[in-house]
Amino acid sequence: MTAYSDLMAFQRDTEALGQIAGRLGWDQETMMPRGAADQRGDETGAIEGILHARRTDPRIGEWLEAAEPQDEVERAQLRHIRRTYEKQTRIPAALATEIARVTSVAQGVWAGARRAEKVADFLPTLARVVALKREEAAALAGNGDLYDALLDNYEPGATAESIGAMFDRLRPRLVALADRILGAPKPAALTGQFPADGQMRVTRDLAQAFGYDWNRGRLDLAVHPFSSGSGNDVRITTRVVEEEPFNCFYSTIHETGHACYEQAIDQAYLLTPLGNGVSMGVHESQSRIYENQMGRSRPFTGWLFGRMQAEFGALSVRDADAFHAAVNRVQPGYIRTEADEVHYNLHVMLRFDLERQLIGGALEVADLEAAWNARFLKDFGAAVDRPSHGVLQDVHWSVGLFGYFPTYSLGNVYAGCLNQAMRAAVPGIDAGLARGDASAATGWLRQNLQRHGGLYEPGEVVARACGFAPSEGPLLDYLEAKFAEIYRL
Ligand code: ZN
Repeated sequence: MTAYSDLMAFQRDTEALGQIAGRLGWDQETMMPRGAADQRGDETGAIEGILHARRTDPRIGEWLEAAEPQDEVERAQLRHIRRTYEKQTRIPAALATEIARVTSVAQGVWAGARRAEKVADFLPTLARVVALKREEAAALAGNGDLYDALLDNYEPGATAESIGAMFDRLRPRLVALADRILGAPKPAALTGQFPADGQMRVTRDLAQAFGYDWNRGRLDLAVHPFSSGSGNDVRITTRVVEEEPFNCFYSTIHETGHACYEQAIDQAYLLTPLGNGVSMGVHESQSRIYENQMGRSRPFTGWLFGRMQAEFGALSVRDADAFHAAVNRVQPGYIRTEADEVHYNLHVMLRFDLERQLIGGALEVADLEAAWNARFLKDFGAAVDRPSHGVLQDVHWSVGLFGYFPTYSLGNVYAGCLNQAMRAAVPGIDAGLARGDASAATGWLRQNLQRHGGLYEPGEVVARACGFAPSEGPLLDYLEAKFAEIYRL
C-alpha cells in the first residue's frame, strides 16, 4: 500500500459517513416523526463528532506529506483533502463544538423571533453567532481578511474584493433595467386554484424533462425545497401552495439542476472529494440555468402552458405569450427567494454588504435592523413593513452561514456565461425545450461541466466549459434582451 491509497481508503469511509449524515438531515426535513427531534439531535451530534475526529486525524497530515500523486486526478484529490484538513485543524475543537451547539439552538430562536415579528428576541443569539464566526474567521485567516476566510468555505478562491467589483459592475445595468420595466405596463399574473395532486403530476414531468434520474433519486415534500446527497442517491424536495403553482414548479426545476449536477459526476469519483459539486457558486449556476435560462424561456413556457391546460383546464391567461409574461413578471418585493431575475441580485448585494460589515466589525448587531431597513428603502424604494419581510427573512445568519449569500449571484453570473456558450455550441436547444425536452442542453452541461465534479477549481471549470473567462456581461445581455422583448421596451 502507498500513502496515497491508504489516505484514499480512509477518505472513502469519511465521505460515506458524510453521506449518511446528509441522509439523516434529509429524513429530518421529510419523514421524521415530530417526537424524534431530541433523539435525532443526539444521533446527528454523534456522527458529526466522528466526522470531525476523522477530518482532523493526524494521520492525514502524514499521508499528505508522503503521498506521490501520479496524475491530474490524484493531484486534485490531494488538493481537496489538504484544504479541508488545514481548515479543520486550524479551528480549535472547543470552538467548533461551541459553534455547532450555538447555531443549532440559534435556528430555533430565529424561527421563534420571525414568527413573533420580534427582532429583539433574536439579537443576543445573533451577536453570539457573529462573535463565534469572527473567531473562526480569525483562526482560518491568519493575517488575511476575516470575511474572505469565510467566503472561501463556500467558494474557494473568491474574495470580497472580487465579488464587490462584480456587484459594482452588475448594479447600474440591473437598476436601469428594473426602472425601464417598472415604467412599462404590467402583464397579468396567473390566478386560480391548482390542486396539490395535479401540481405534483406536473412537477414530476418537469424533473423528468430536465433529465432527473429517478432510479437514483426521489421527490418528496418539505417546507423549504432542497437537494441532498451525491452520486447514486440524490434526493430533491418541493412544496405546494395551491394558489401559486409556479412556486412548486420552479422550485422543482431549480432543485433538479442541483441534483442533476451531482448525478452526472464521473462514477470514478464516487465517495471521494471529487465526487461533489465543486463550489456553491458552480452548484447554483446549474440550478439557475435549469430554472431560468431554460425553464423560464419562451419555448419551454409554451410547453408548460399546454401541460398546465391539460392538467387544470382553461387558465386565467389567454395564450402562450401571456403565460410567458406571467411566468416572468417583474415586481420589486421584500423577499429574496420570491424575487424575479432582475431584482434577485440586488437582494444579494444588500446582504453581502451588511454581512461583510458585521464580520469586519464595522456594523454592530444592535444596529443591523436599522441598517437593513435603510438600505432596503434606498435600493427598492419601499419601507420594510415587518421583520419577517426584512432582516429576519433568511435562515442563513442564524446557522452561521456568513459568506454564503454572494455564491447565489456568482451562480447567476456563471449561468449567464454557460447559457451563451451552450447556445453557440448546440443547435436545436429551443426546439427541444418547446417539446418539453431539455436533453440537448443538459447533455452539453453534463459533458462540459457536471461530470468533472471537483476536478478543477470553480472559475476554471466554468471557463473550460465556456471557452472564455467568466464575467457578468453575458448575464446582463441575456436579461436586457429577454425583458426588452416581454415588456416591449
Ligand atoms: Zn440553489
